[in-house]
Amino acid sequence: MNTDEFVNFRSRLMEFLTAGGACAVGICNADNLKGGPPSTDLTRELATAKTAIVFAYPQDHKIIEAYMGKINHEKYQKHYIDINNIVAGLSSEVAHILQGQGFDAVPVYAGNTPSGGDGREVTPQNAVQAKSAERYPATDVDMMMGLIPVLSQRYLAAACGVGFFGRSGNILTADEGATVVLGAVVTSADFEPTPPLPEEDNYCDDCNWCEAVCPTKYMSTTEVTVVQLGERTHQYSERMNGARCGSHMGGLAGIANNGKFSSWGPSQKKLPTDDNELFISLMDLTDDQAKRPAVAGGFVPAFQESGRMNIMCSACNLVCHPERDVRGKRVKMWTQGGLVVQHENGTLEAMPREDAEAFVNAMPDERRALYTLIETA
Ligand code: SF4
Ligand code: SF4
Repeated sequence: MNTDEFVNFRSRLMEFLTAGGACAVGICNADNLKGGPPSTDLTRELATAKTAIVFAYPQDHKIIEAYMGKINHEKYQKHYIDINNIVAGLSSEVAHILQGQGFDAVPVYAGNTPSGGDGREVTPQNAVQAKSAERYPATDVDMMMGLIPVLSQRYLAAACGVGFFGRSGNILTADEGATVVLGAVVTSADFEPTPPLPEEDNYCDDCNWCEAVCPTKYMSTTEVTVVQLGERTHQYSERMNGARCGSHMGGLAGIANNGKFSSWGPSQKKLPTDDNELFISLMDLTDDQAKRPAVAGGFVPAFQESGRMNIMCSACNLVCHPERDVRGKRVKMWTQGGLVVQHENGTLEAMPREDAEAFVNAMPDERRALYTLIETA
């Protein structure tokens, strides 16, 4: 492939992704990732890596709003899994095309974390990674919960202009907000990189609605995480105990700290505010969930012996739209949508808070104990 053909090949791959439905496509390399955490070292995924092609694929806003309005859980969950499968398919196809032209290439799958079933080492593997890990230390909780990815698609996306960091720490795309699924392909092809988006285009206005919809406390209101990627400094609010978010995402917990709304989890047992009490509480909630009827759908984590992984929150992500009015509408939908309860056949339904409490209180004790605290004599 001569230089002109190589330049055209780059454009054609980007066009391929856009035609396939991606709303933003970029290319990053070691230069525009320089200074980042270990999870920005492309050689962790592929020893011969020179660049990564990164893209964002939008989710359907109508389906999102039915989920945020606590009207339809199952449809959004299926949609989210479908979009992930489309992204995995596009990534695999791009890798295949690159390999067909003589380059090394591998897709970066969303589950490239220990909790996503990826057994590869995520601790620093060489002196450069060790140095960057000193600058961006992983917390014990993040390591214990397996939240550190081999490669961070978020950082890759921010470095090459697929989106910018919002206060929430999610990637906000220019047209679709944060409601996208990211994909990436790492390759030995030394393509020209794309720049980060202009800082002045970042429409995150600190509305703080990502925090308002959070049923727990995950985003710090005082501390920020600062990340250097090439010549650009990015920042977002520091993430606190990952177990809090994980418990709502997985449906162990449901009711918000303020008792006024819930994620899609049907538990009315509040998480303790003290992190020292959190893990004992999560053990109890895990036990409850195992005894509750299964929720329909969900990912099949084939790396585990059994079970499904349901999606029960993501509100901080789904609330964030480029238009402030849409964000405001989604905050109301989520926080005024009541509490979610679970029927005996496993289906979920949102009700006004008083009705949801009465629904659970009418259950026989053994069943009720799976959803709310029961006073013992
Ligand atoms: S919800 Fe508001 S504060 Fe949060 S990331 Fe989006 S625009 Fe920024
Ligand atoms: S996914 Fe839900 S629980 Fe986790 S940070 Fe976002 S809003 Fe909070």
